[in-house]
Amino acid sequence: MAKAAGKHLTRTALKVRKALGARANRGCPACGRTVVGFFRYGDNPEWGCPECGASPRERLMNWLIDAGRLAVPVDGAILHMAPNEGSLVRRFSAARDYVPADLDPSRYPVPGVRRMDLMELEASGRYDLFYASHVMEHVPDDHAVLRNIFAALKPGGEAWLIVPLWEKPTEDGSFAIPPRERERRFGQWDHVRQYGPDFADRIRAAGFELEEIDAASIDPDIRHFHALDDRLFRARRPA
Ligand SMILES: [Zn+2]
Repeated sequence: MAKAAGKHLTRTALKVRKALGARANRGCPACGRTVVGFFRYGDNPEWGCPECGASPRERLMNWLIDAGRLAVPVDGAILHMAPNEGSLVRRFSAARDYVPADLDPSRYPVPGVRRMDLMELEASGRYDLFYASHVMEHVPDDHAVLRNIFAALKPGGEAWLIVPLWEKPTEDGSFAIPPRERERRFGQWDHVRQYGPDFADRIRAAGFELEEIDAASIDPDIRHFHALDDRLFRARRPA
């Protein structure tokens, strides 16, 4: 609750600063607008875009696409899990075959969202791109899900994965742990693990080639201008 309250306070403060004529010298790559700053959430003082609400990871994805570091396969098929980032729904839904999906479709106001359980994802070889941001920490068996994603991709297809990270090794839990205990250990009541940098090993173990793209590797001026943060795990099913 404190986190959410802080979010509203700093969002309001940014509106006031803007109204008082503060110079909009930062930019959001998710909505393309100039902003006077970004609002705080949790312990990140520059978390959200005051215009569109985009998080650091949503801004990172948009910047990587605009910079040509990532290509959205618009002629192909995209499976978009937990489609709650509006800017990415707009970009991905331009694809010839766009499938937005979640275990609980009612949570997303996106047309055509279908129910999908990644534990039972079909080995279709259908997709050119699989996108899941903050999904893997919710699934009961991530080793199995990574293998499922591999088999759902075409050879040469890519999975773009973002997860909450800490610096320690991954700590696994299960749904047998009470929700309150999961919130304490994994940061949220419906998370069953907390990932560390060794998430990379799990991705490779499923057969993927992996590139890690960390916001820290981006030019500091660009990173500051857009307040970019987070790390993308770009996994590729070998051709
Ligand atoms: Zn924005």
